[in-house]
Amino acid sequence: MITEKQSTRKDGSSNFNVGLMGGTFDPVHIGHLVTAEEAWQQFNLDKVIFIPVGLPPHKKVEGISDAEHRYMMTLLAVINNSRFEVSRYEIDKTTPSYTIDTIKYFKDFFGKEANIFFITGTDAVLEILTWKNYEDLLDVCTFIAASRPGYSLEKLHQRVEGYYPQTMNKIHLLENPAMSVSSTFIRERVRENKTIKYLTTEAVEHYIYKYELYIH
Ligand code: ATP
Ligand code: MG
Repeated sequence: MITEKQSTRKDGSSNFNVGLMGGTFDPVHIGHLVTAEEAWQQFNLDKVIFIPVGLPPHKKVEGISDAEHRYMMTLLAVINNSRFEVSRYEIDKTTPSYTIDTIKYFKDFFGKEANIFFITGTDAVLEILTWKNYEDLLDVCTFIAASRPGYSLEKLHQRVEGYYPQTMNKIHLLENPAMSVSSTFIRERVRENKTIKYLTTEAVEHYIYKYELYIH
């Protein structure tokens, strides 16, 4: 939960850097966590806020675990990291969540002086670049795109060429050591009765078994 409005850093400088990571998080896994931690370090972020999506506009809602389960797992996963927070912003909304609205909400929340970094995988960035009015997004935030299998950085550069000229300045690439893990992979393993130990945190692993997620 975000409990206070902060727009200056402890060292007195006014650049407050906030990382936002949106996702289905069904379940959250080490790919998300390692990416967020790496982004925190490389981009000198003050905090990273994980935002589980409520009604993802680009995904079928059917087959996605209940928002409260996804929220709880994300909370459990970040509990021992004081720089990581989880927001209920999207899951408490009753209307579909569009990334641009969410980013604008946090931009307003933290004030004009704050720098907003949107952390995604390269797959998600490629998708974002096909959205209508994606230039608006680039005006309000900088992207940190973590490498994911099958989505090469070259492909990203090729796609970006010819779009809005400043696009590449607003997209920073991040090498991610846990790149091949995905929620899909974890769900499949649970369904096949295979171990998921170390692919996510221990608490999330227990939560999945306790609530019998992904079995059917
Ligand atoms: P699914 O397999 O259900 O699509 P996912 O593993 O892709 O799940 P999401 O919740 O869809 O997870 O992803 C949230 C964000 O995290 C997206 O921007 C996605 O690109 C990014 N992401 C997911 N897994 C990784 C990973 N291993 N490395 C870097 N980024 C990742
Ligand atoms: Mg995905």
